[in-house]
Amino acid sequence: MAKKQFKAESKRLLDLMVNSIYTHKEIFLREIISNASDACDKLCYLALTDQAVGMDRGDFKIEITADKEARTLTVSDNGVGMDREDLENNLGVIASSGSYKFKQELRDAAKDTDVIGQFGVGFYSAFMVSDQITVVTRKYGADSAYRWQSSGADGYTISECEKATVGTDIVMRIKPDSEEERYGEFLEGWRLQELVRKYSDYIRFPIRMEVSKTRKKEDSPEDKPEYETYTEIETLNSMVPIWQRAKSEVTQEEYYKFYRDKFHDYADPQRVIPVSVEGNITYKALLFVPGATPFDYYTKEFEKGLQLYSNGVLIMDKCADLLPEHFRFVRGVVDSPDLSLNISRELLQHDRQLKVIAGNLEKKIKADLSKFLSEDREGYQTFWKNFGRQLKYGVVNEYGRHKELLQDLLLFYSSTEKKPVTLDEYVSRMKEDQKYIYYAAGETADKIDKLPQTEGLRDAGTEILYFTEEVDEFCAQTLRTYKEKEFRSVLDQEIEEGAEKKAEEEAQAHKGTFDFVKEALGDAVKEVKASARLKSHPVCLTAGEGLSFEMEKYFQAVQPDAALKAERILELNVEHPAFQALEAAVEADPEKAKTYASLLYSQALLIAGLPLDDPSGYTDLVCGLMK
Ligand code: ADP
Ligand code: MG
Repeated sequence: MAKKQFKAESKRLLDLMVNSIYTHKEIFLREIISNASDACDKLCYLALTDQAVGMDRGDFKIEITADKEARTLTVSDNGVGMDREDLENNLGVIASSGSYKFKQELRDAAKDTDVIGQFGVGFYSAFMVSDQITVVTRKYGADSAYRWQSSGADGYTISECEKATVGTDIVMRIKPDSEEERYGEFLEGWRLQELVRKYSDYIRFPIRMEVSKTRKKEDSPEDKPEYETYTEIETLNSMVPIWQRAKSEVTQEEYYKFYRDKFHDYADPQRVIPVSVEGNITYKALLFVPGATPFDYYTKEFEKGLQLYSNGVLIMDKCADLLPEHFRFVRGVVDSPDLSLNISRELLQHDRQLKVIAGNLEKKIKADLSKFLSEDREGYQTFWKNFGRQLKYGVVNEYGRHKELLQDLLLFYSSTEKKPVTLDEYVSRMKEDQKYIYYAAGETADKIDKLPQTEGLRDAGTEILYFTEEVDEFCAQTLRTYKEKEFRSVLDQEIEEGAEKKAEEEAQAHKGTFDFVKEALGDAVKEVKASARLKSHPVCLTAGEGLSFEMEKYFQAVQPDAALKAERILELNVEHPAFQALEAAVEADPEKAKTYASLLYSQALLIAGLPLDDPSGYTDLVCGLMK
């Protein structure tokens, strides 16, 4: 039989294809199954307009058979089939897609078909794993059947043959195993099952395969059971993707189960967000907010992204571009027939559609979280524990570009409500003459409660937001204001005019003592002054302009070498007995007064949660007093 030659370019293309387009050999099965599905779709479409076809959607199927002895893998369909001309045009010319033409010819009329093919190269991917492919096919309405055969770049043959039924068998002779590649795997039932579930789970026609199973022998005793293996034909794919079904037809448990299975989570999701969009870009999405923080969430290992499908065929497992950083905890799938895929159907050539979808999903997620917050506060607090930090990072990132979007989703612990509150709630409770949104930073709410600087505000019943995470102050700095109210640290709260004046007078009256303390402490402090806010405490430390103490701690942890330090201003309460003792000592016993100054400073550091420069020196001083 005379061999027909591929054109020279075709040879090169085939070589290129087989060896470089696809990154994973295993996708050949996805391509062959997609073609079978397209063939079924085409005949199914014909059946709509031609009574003579006599088939319903439910009659179509795709079958996989592996023959280990012959080393062949066969994918059969009872779809539209091909005649000699089709074989020449579709399998003899690389990069010619019969499916693409089919869609073009039908255009709007074919809106309801889900034909997948478009590039005319998928078929040849089977040469990555096979050294010979035989196609036995009979076209609907034709009397004769044909056999197409090729071993790759050297060409193909077509001959007439026998085939009883309409449809196509693709018989792939699997390559011998090599050092690098165990091709034999593609003849193993478990592997085929795995691949179908991974890539072709949502093909709309049943993909069937004989699978071997084990059962207890019927006549074997219960206490000494014997087992036997048997085979059964099983449908491997779930066919209808849950995201294609109407929301009202899916139960919560079905959604939960899908989430747990698909994303390997033991916990149910907290939120399920089904999305269906029709218009310029049509797509369906099903998103989930996990019920627990993945163990690797805040590490580099965690990969964000949504699964991307095109017409039910998996294109990408984790498409990062679909999710903004601040919602990177969201999991789910997106399925759109409108994606422009590149030839390998792995990467996207244009990302315009993706951008539109991503922008849309961001809004949907935001809307759902807002709803969650207003309808189920307790649930939202759990969510906040899991992923709140991510939202705060989101506010700070990219110079605050996303702060408008995120600010109403934030929660901070309130000193008066004793629970996390929103900024809106805080502002709506502000007293008429209150100018600022006050916050205090510290390690825990308990520690902040005891900060001397909060005493005045707390006595006046003013609400203070407690910032217990490093990112909180950066977050407030980025927001700057909320509903035109400025954020302000309790450390630089405005002092009432009267109190300020009093502090000035005191500074004058006790100038000698302050100068003495400043001199004794040297460069450790920037300034020593009388406090206008201390009531029962003897000392406190305030940061000057620029870095706050909490920021200093943060930088100390992440960049210790930079030695970034906040300015230290030591405030003394002149009405406190400790100050009076100090003042007396300045006159009578300057050595002792130096010790007192150092003690007061150390105490101020401890209250602020800052490390002592010399802890054992401090202990010696305290013990010295006990002698
Ligand atoms: P694509 O699917 O992108 O069109 P392929 O290389 O996968 O490209 O397939 C090329 C063409 O071969 C298809 O468009 C289709 O016309 C034809 N074809 C492949 N497999 C089958 C099949 N099982 N039944 C009928 N036609 C097929
Ligand atoms: Mg194809």
